[in-house]
Amino acid sequence: MKIGILGAGQLGRMLALAGYPLDQRFVFLDPTPDPCAAPLGEHLQADYLDEAALAAFCAGCDVATFEFENVPARTADVVAAQRPLYPPPQALATAQDRLNEKKLFDDLGIPVPRYLPVATRQALDMAVRITGLPAVLKTRRMGYDGKGQAVLRQPEDLDAAWAQLGSQPLILEAFVPFQREISCLAVRGRDGGLAFYPVVENRHRDGILRLSTPVLDDPMQAQAEDYARRVIEKLDYVGVMAFEFFVADGQLFANEIAPRVHNSGHWSIEGAVCSQFENHLRAVAGLPLGSTAARGYSAMVNFIGSAPDTAALAAIAGVHVHLYGKSAKAKRKVGHATLTASDAAELQTRIAQVTALADAAEI
Ligand code: AMP
Repeated sequence: MKIGILGAGQLGRMLALAGYPLDQRFVFLDPTPDPCAAPLGEHLQADYLDEAALAAFCAGCDVATFEFENVPARTADVVAAQRPLYPPPQALATAQDRLNEKKLFDDLGIPVPRYLPVATRQALDMAVRITGLPAVLKTRRMGYDGKGQAVLRQPEDLDAAWAQLGSQPLILEAFVPFQREISCLAVRGRDGGLAFYPVVENRHRDGILRLSTPVLDDPMQAQAEDYARRVIEKLDYVGVMAFEFFVADGQLFANEIAPRVHNSGHWSIEGAVCSQFENHLRAVAGLPLGSTAARGYSAMVNFIGSAPDTAALAAIAGVHVHLYGKSAKAKRKVGHATLTASDAAELQTRIAQVTALADAAEI
């Protein structure tokens, strides 16, 4: 089966790596000249709104999907008119706008931090009166890895945040004094079958994910699954979806969804029976889903900016190296390692070893 993927970054690359054993082949549409998934399939280098390229993309695949959530709505519509496109375009429309996301969570009874849309400087003052401080001001669209947001701690912070972000539609959220950040990855097949990976605990630094650790008996698992199921069924979703939550005083607050495979699921390549990438492809291709169970103790450490020496990583037992073929650049995700271990103490030792190498390599 030929799978068309909109976007050809590392998520597309890892999808393709998972798909070859299933005898799947790949065509990517991506405007950048040398994206890192290109060696894994046919790369159509064109703008996402290029009608001729979209026609070639559709002619070259049996079914289509995407690896990033900022696919233009028009692109999704054009592709969906010609080929089955999973996840469905309405999931994109929801996930592309933080306000739509929050409204959906609200409609489905999923707790969220108090939020208000902000369109003017005056509206920001009024919104802060309702959320109180601290609060987080975010662009409604295109924010990622902590970009497009500012934490407001005192009234004097408002002017600077407005100067930085005020040219775009914004949302103000109450700051959640969370103890943990977790994500829950779900996968739904074309037949409606639904499965959940173990909840993952995520650590960020400078707004970028650094460490993800699946938690084998997390007390929030059932609640996270319940909230994820509501969204997935509402959107009649097919594929992998990631849900990010804050955990505060034993309660979950939904932060955002990603209608795609997700960085906090990379551990599943070696840490789960069937990885998020294979399961996404199985869902999109109409195959039965694989088991989402963890194989044992595992974790994922991201490489940001530049990767540690491969030999140094490979020398550590239980370390699986994944490099994305990208050049070094500050804040860029250039690879990750999945660490597997036979018990919790061994896992912590390996996390410390790999994190030290990752920190030393960061530029
Ligand atoms: P986001 O792009 O929404 O995932 O935000 C990036 C990071 O900023 C999150 O992983 C949190 O660490 C932090 N953050 C975002 N929104 C809030 C909030 N309402 N309260 C506290 N921290 C937040």
